[in-house]
Amino acid sequence: MAETHTQSAAARLAAVEERIAHACKFAGRGRDEVTLVAISKTHDEASIARLIEAGQRVFGENRVQETQAKWPALRERYSRVELHLVGTLQSNKAEDAVALFDCIHSLDRPSLVKALGKAMDKTGRQVPCFIQVDIGEEEQKGGCAIAEVPGLLEQARGADIPVVGLMCVPPLGIEPAPFFALLDKLARDNGLEGRSMGMSGDYETAIMLGATHVRVGTALFGARD
Ligand SMILES: *Cc1c(COP(=O)(O)O)cnc(C)c1O
Repeated sequence: MAETHTQSAAARLAAVEERIAHACKFAGRGRDEVTLVAISKTHDEASIARLIEAGQRVFGENRVQETQAKWPALRERYSRVELHLVGTLQSNKAEDAVALFDCIHSLDRPSLVKALGKAMDKTGRQVPCFIQVDIGEEEQKGGCAIAEVPGLLEQARGADIPVVGLMCVPPLGIEPAPFFALLDKLARDNGLEGRSMGMSGDYETAIMLGATHVRVGTALFGARD
């Protein structure tokens, strides 16, 4: 049984890697310009370990508490792993997040800039951040409004937070390409290199449109419960 699991983790990773390589080639980009972030939320340590054994190094979670429960043991076993936060972060968890994660994709409001700046100051750990943008201008969605990106960026820089790019989750059920193109333009206009965009259903499109980080869960781990 364990053997089968290992093979399927390796096979899934190989399939995703092949499609990423293909998209990079089409786009005239190097494979090393795109980081595959394996989104392991809801999946257990054993499943994650199988993907690490298959060669994956960068992972993403969306909850501080779940990460605290799952990752310390994995980190001890696999020292080269890198961990990214891709979910909404409450300001009162900022210090935990700075201690746990190597990158934060969800900086989206002034109060969080304050909390993260303070936490980085206190711990001496400068964690690279993406500003999450509400690219579809959706009411209920995380992310700062498009018009607020320059202001938030300035605040973050004032707080010594290393901002490396922009991140988005386009609206569901619509062709995502125009939203990826818009995030790419916003990043360029603001002089930022990083574009965190693309999930299991659309990461190739995102790579064609400039993604530097694709966040892939289901295609690597199978469906979540
Ligand atoms: C869950 C999640 C993903 C991964 O989604 P899949 O469709 O399973 O690939 C990517 N980004 C964010 C922000 C997520 O919460």
